[in-house]
Amino acid sequence: MKLEDYIARVDDYPHEGIIFRDITPLMADGKAYHEATQRIVEYAKSKDVDVIVGPEARGFITGCPVAYALEIGFVPVRKKGKLPRKTIEVDYGLEYGKDVLTIHEDAIKPGMKVLIVDDLLATGGTIEASIKLVEQLGGEVVGCAFLIELVELEGYKKLHDKDYIALMQY
Ligand code: IMP
Repeated sequence: MKLEDYIARVDDYPHEGIIFRDITPLMADGKAYHEATQRIVEYAKSKDVDVIVGPEARGFITGCPVAYALEIGFVPVRKKGKLPRKTIEVDYGLEYGKDVLTIHEDAIKPGMKVLIVDDLLATGGTIEASIKLVEQLGGEVVGCAFLIELVELEGYKKLHDKDYIALMQY
């Protein structure tokens, strides 16, 4: 199955000059969503993962079915003010601005092997912040998985040599 057939290209969104890759057609197609999930599940199996971490909001859509398939937990990374209990936080720059990401401070136990899953790697700000949050709690990021990598933005540099896969590259 060619997953690229299920990604819509949207020119000049959210700003002029930006080419937005819309994953919602992939999610709306049961077979394509399953195939994409399954490829990340296989990657996770090769890494002996204890828990999936996903940044809001498309990291939930991408990461939760992987956690479900592996019968392991899912931990959300969210924008500041969204998680109800005690959190730690990290500032980050994203493709279209700046923000703060948080995680519950008891969500990751020291030594846990973590796979971070998100829909798309652009500048790498989101994944870099997510890695920092996991590592501050003593977790070990054993890999990162994305549906899409926007290669020209060189976000992989923010992974600081962590292993990763991207199912599609543009
Ligand atoms: P980064 O932090 O610059 O790597 O941006 C990645 C985050 O921005 C991901 O969580 C994506 O959901 C979102 N994002 C950036 N560009 C796109 C795009 O073209 N399509 C869908 N999401 C995008």
